[in-house]
Amino acid sequence: MKSAILSVGTEILFGQITNTNTVYLSRKLNFMGIDVMYHETVGDNPERVKQVMRRMLSEVDLIITTGGLGPTQDDLTKEMAAEVMGCELRLHEESLEKIRGYFTRTGRVMSENNVKQAMLPVDDGIILPNNGGTAPGCIFEKNGKIIICLPGPPREMTKMFEESVDPYLRSKTSDVIYYRMLRIFGIGEGQLESMLENLITGQTDPTIATYAKEGEVSVRITSKRKTMEEAAAAVDKMAAEVGRIAGDAVYSYDDEDLKDVVAKKLIENNLSISCAESCTGGLFAGTLIGVDGISSVFERGLVTYSNRAKEEELGVSSETLEKFGAVSEETAREMTAGLKKKTGSRVCISVTGIAGPTGGTAEKPVGLVYICADFDGKTVCNEYRVRPVSRNWIRNYTVMLMLNMINKLI
Ligand code: ATP
Ligand code: MG
Repeated sequence: MKSAILSVGTEILFGQITNTNTVYLSRKLNFMGIDVMYHETVGDNPERVKQVMRRMLSEVDLIITTGGLGPTQDDLTKEMAAEVMGCELRLHEESLEKIRGYFTRTGRVMSENNVKQAMLPVDDGIILPNNGGTAPGCIFEKNGKIIICLPGPPREMTKMFEESVDPYLRSKTSDVIYYRMLRIFGIGEGQLESMLENLITGQTDPTIATYAKEGEVSVRITSKRKTMEEAAAAVDKMAAEVGRIAGDAVYSYDDEDLKDVVAKKLIENNLSISCAESCTGGLFAGTLIGVDGISSVFERGLVTYSNRAKEEELGVSSETLEKFGAVSEETAREMTAGLKKKTGSRVCISVTGIAGPTGGTAEKPVGLVYICADFDGKTVCNEYRVRPVSRNWIRNYTVMLMLNMINKLI
C-alpha cells in the first residue's frame, strides 16, 4: 500500500512548531510495511487542502492527515476530505454526547462551535473516538482509496493512532517490515558505499541505505516480507555480510550509541576506568558519566589543561613538555602512565590536542590529537588529524575517537 502524509496547519509553515506528527506517522507506517511516498504541509486553507488531497489521491492509496479537526472556522480538514471523497457528513449523536461529557468533566462550557466536531461520515465512514480530547477522527474509504483524518495535538493523535488506526491498517496489509541499524565509526560514508557497492546495487529486498551523521555512519538494512521470521532472517544475513566487509568498524548491530556500547563493556567486565583530558576538557568524562550504571567502574576524570596541571597531577616531566610540546605522543604517553600510577584503574586514557581555532602551526595544525590508552599494561598511542570544522566539532569527534579506542582495546 502506498501512502502520503498531509499535515495541516499554518503554524507549521511559519516554523512555529516542529512537525513531530509526520515523524511519528512515518515510523509507524514504515514499520507496518506501508510505503510512505512523501510528506506535505499546507496552511489552514480549504482550497489548498482540497487541491493537495486530489493530487495525492491520484498517486497513493492512503492519505493520513493531522490537524484542522478543531471547532474553529479554519479547522476544515475533515470537511475537505468528505468533499474530495464524495462522502456525507452528518451529526453523530454519540460523539456529541462524548464532547459534552468532556466539557462537563473538565469543568468548562461547551460552545456551539464544538457541534461541528461531531459532524462525521456516519453513513459511509468509520468514526475514531478521541479519548484524549474533543475532536473525533474519522476514516473515509471509497473506491480503493482511504483518507484518515487525525487531530493535530500530538498526544491526541498518537493515542488515536494506537487505539484505532493501527488495528485498522493492520487488517488492510499483509506485509511486515523488519530493519536493523548498524553503527559504524572510522570509515567515511563515501568509502563505505564503495565497499558495499555490490550489496547496494541491484538489491530489492533487503534494501541497504547509508546515513552519515556527526562523523559516523549508520547502515539501515530493511526487509519487507510476509512474516516477521522471514524478514528478520533476510536482514540478519545481510547484516552479517556488511559486518564481514566493514570489519570491526561496526560497533553496534542494534543502533546503540558508542558511549553505551563502551560503558556496557566496562560495566559487564567490571573494568575500572580513569581519564586525563586536555583538549576535550572533561567532555569524555561527561559523556561516559551520562550512561546509567557507570558509577560501578568510573574512578576519576582529570582535566589537565595547562602544562602545570599535566606536571602536578600526572607527573609529566617538564623536559618532555619543553622538548616535544604539550601536544605530542610523548606527552600523551606520560599522561597515561601518570594516570595509571595515580589511580591504578585497569583502563586509563589520556588525550591532548589542538582544538583551535587558533594555536595551530604548519607542523602542528588545528585538529592534531594524540590519544593514549592503557588496558592492564597494554598501551596504544595514536596520532589523529581531526577535520578542523570547529572547536566543538573537534572536541566531540575526539571523544568518539577515545571511545572507539577503548572499545577496540578492551
Ligand atoms: P484543536 O482542536 O486543538 O484546534 P486540531 O485538530 O484543529 O486541534 P490544529 O489546530 O491543527 O489541530 O493543531 C493544534 C495544535 O496541535 C497545534 O497548535 C500544535 O501545537 C499541535 N500540532 C498540530 N499539528 C502538528 C504537527 N504536525 N506536529 C506536531 N504538533 C502539531
Ligand atoms: Mg485547530
